[in-house]
Amino acid sequence: MQALVERLYPICRSLTGPGNRQTLAIIGESVDLALTELPSGTEVFDWVIPDEWTPRSAEIVGPDGVARARFKDHNLHLLGCSVSVDREMDLAELLEHIYTLPDEPDLIPYVVSYYKRDWGFAMKDREKRALPPGRYRVTIDTTLEPGSMTFGEAVLPGRTDREVLISTYVCHPSMANDNLSGIAVAAALYRLVASMPDRHYSYRFIWIPETIGAIAWLALNQDHAKQKIAAGMVLSCVGDEGPLTWKLSRRGDTEIDRIARLVLARSDLDHRITPFLPAKGSDERQFGSPGFNLPVGLLSRSVPGEFRSYHTSGDTPDLVTAEGHAGSLKTAYEMIATLESNSIRYKRIDPHCEPMLSNKRLIQSVSIRNRPGYDMTADPLVALRWVLNYCDGEHDLLDIAELSDVPMPALASAAQRAHQAGLLTIV
Ligand code: ZN
Repeated sequence: MQALVERLYPICRSLTGPGNRQTLAIIGESVDLALTELPSGTEVFDWVIPDEWTPRSAEIVGPDGVARARFKDHNLHLLGCSVSVDREMDLAELLEHIYTLPDEPDLIPYVVSYYKRDWGFAMKDREKRALPPGRYRVTIDTTLEPGSMTFGEAVLPGRTDREVLISTYVCHPSMANDNLSGIAVAAALYRLVASMPDRHYSYRFIWIPETIGAIAWLALNQDHAKQKIAAGMVLSCVGDEGPLTWKLSRRGDTEIDRIARLVLARSDLDHRITPFLPAKGSDERQFGSPGFNLPVGLLSRSVPGEFRSYHTSGDTPDLVTAEGHAGSLKTAYEMIATLESNSIRYKRIDPHCEPMLSNKRLIQSVSIRNRPGYDMTADPLVALRWVLNYCDGEHDLLDIAELSDVPMPALASAAQRAHQAGLLTIV
């Protein structure tokens, strides 16, 4: 994951353009990716797919002959979707097109003008304040013309066509935690899910430009999304070592929300559950718009917008770590494994009293139990007693995990053994 982040970091991405296709081609080396090209001008709900942007070069040459804010030095120097310029101007006019962060004078901000034609540069505030007065030569060489917006999709079929949606975005230039970490964790998660021997759910992974990409995907898949998506997660800012964070889906109490609570509560990493807030976050806002209201939450570490180098040149590959990525991947995978375990609902064949377990080789006939320090939740007999009591046709394994504090894998294994022993039937 770390290597993928470093490889993708130098590429200039946007909502559209060659950098996005190059990024998707690299993801496609390890993922069976199908690409969609959606033409500029296509209407998707209240939005229109924008023209395609191709940046080539940009710089400012001052009266001292020094070239500054060169695109070739950092992608963030050029305003995203900037149009071409090639002319001289005074410092006062130039300053109207320069963006900085006065409170972070050594970081270049991430600035875009997606939907209004404009030109501009971003630079360190310290550098802006040192610009000498005089005439400047400004050159920006880009094209912004009808083309298409590209996104990538990969489906891993399961036994049913009920789908789990994993969504992340591919539109940020040269920033690691937001958003290359999401790309990397999604690609690694795809390979883990692909290697699962048996899947109840089908899994749909999408790598899309944020906001407009999610809106376009939903517009193209409106009925499918409403009918098939059983659960989902957006991956964003999953590479640093901030606390594991699950932002609840808009409904807040869906199966995937309950699973997130369960998995995070058992994690040794710091963690938190946050409410669904429409004012910030990522594409869970589109999946959770009232017309869809899908059971899709957001998995992150540091929340987008809350870490110091967010949306700046400070969000470098040094900010994300192997441990950060791995903790996110493990959590996402455990959530999926729990969802899979909970897809089978068992019921006692004869629900009267506890069955005689030692007869059925379900427990050892000799045992020493319940001594001080004994971990009830790790005892296979405890898991067995829980499933044999609560598999009544009303409760699923997730209900039992919540009631019992017994880990889901232990409950799933106990239920399987009781099923093999003829005590449970599958509903
Ligand atoms: Zn962002």
